[in-house]
Amino acid sequence: MSKTITLGTVTSKSGTIQYGRWEALSHPTGHIEFLPVIIAQGKADGPCLWLTAGIHGPEHGGPAMIYKLITQDLVDRLRGTVVAIPALNPAGLRTMKREPYHAPKDPNRLWPDGKPEKPPDPDKEPPSSLERAYKRLFEEMVANADYLIDYHNAWTGSISFAFRDRVMYRADQDADRHKAEAEALAARQGEMLCAYGHTIVNEFPVEKYIEEKLHRSTSAAALLVGKIPAFTVELGTGEVPDPATVTASAAGTRNVMRWAGMLDGDPEPIEGLQVVDPGFPVRRRGTPRVNEACVVLHLVEPGDLVNAGDPVAKVCDVWGRPLSDGLLRSEYDGFVIGRSHGIYFYPGHAVLGMAIRDDAPLVAPYPEDYFKEK
Ligand SMILES: [Zn+2]
Repeated sequence: MSKTITLGTVTSKSGTIQYGRWEALSHPTGHIEFLPVIIAQGKADGPCLWLTAGIHGPEHGGPAMIYKLITQDLVDRLRGTVVAIPALNPAGLRTMKREPYHAPKDPNRLWPDGKPEKPPDPDKEPPSSLERAYKRLFEEMVANADYLIDYHNAWTGSISFAFRDRVMYRADQDADRHKAEAEALAARQGEMLCAYGHTIVNEFPVEKYIEEKLHRSTSAAALLVGKIPAFTVELGTGEVPDPATVTASAAGTRNVMRWAGMLDGDPEPIEGLQVVDPGFPVRRRGTPRVNEACVVLHLVEPGDLVNAGDPVAKVCDVWGRPLSDGLLRSEYDGFVIGRSHGIYFYPGHAVLGMAIRDDAPLVAPYPEDYFKEK
């Protein structure tokens, strides 16, 4: 028998799928913003996998994957429990905006950061209702989840891939123990990513990662604060999800369940999309950047392997006449994750999302001043 898990109005029931609501926040109009909760539990005991999606309103691939994945047939074969929340940001999904209109900040930068709570500062806006809701939900996650995957979409036309967050550890106290724990966690996370079987791209190195508040994403909070093996999935185009990508993500997710001992059988093939492995670890970067206002005509496709010096775009003026030698070249070895949207670029804008060679460590200490009061 699996452990009974309750989230909001939903309580797991062995061999079934249960549906209900978790109350997130109250609107001033008296409406309650609830998050939909699905708990699928097998008859045999096993781990608890959390699947979350829909934190960015225009990204509809993740919810679609959850609806495809969770079936009675899955439950009949399942050991353990799947807790799925397909809409972490219902307001954003309603308006197809990244940020909810009632708390206009990127919602995937609001999760707990592991720092001690500060006393309220009357000159600063207190945490939004949504941030407070995620704090409560995080406590539920840490109490129940053994693993977590959070589903997103990157850009129109981008490849399907998974982001690997670096595991940061406290070096200001008990550094050796914290480092060993971080290495063990990163190893589990790496196995889980390999089991998922899609292209893997490492997140930014530590300094830029914290500057971008990516350590406060859903999967980063699970990983870094909750110590739960976790990663973020990006499923290509968000506003018009690609059925092949959704299908391949469901297959990858079942492969993670096989790795975790929740399903039997050999891994399923990841079909209908490109899995890119340049033979070296890669991280994300927006590159190359144009140095003058111009029109960009891309020469490479998402998934293409690129070497430093290869032309990746033609650059011209608004009449279509070449500027300089008419070509923009890659500065790095790697591959194309996706093209930046549009063809009209201002100076400094990056024309591609690329995966470039990554030499930064996957396990690294938090910056020295991270846990100090600021
Ligand atoms: Zn997203």
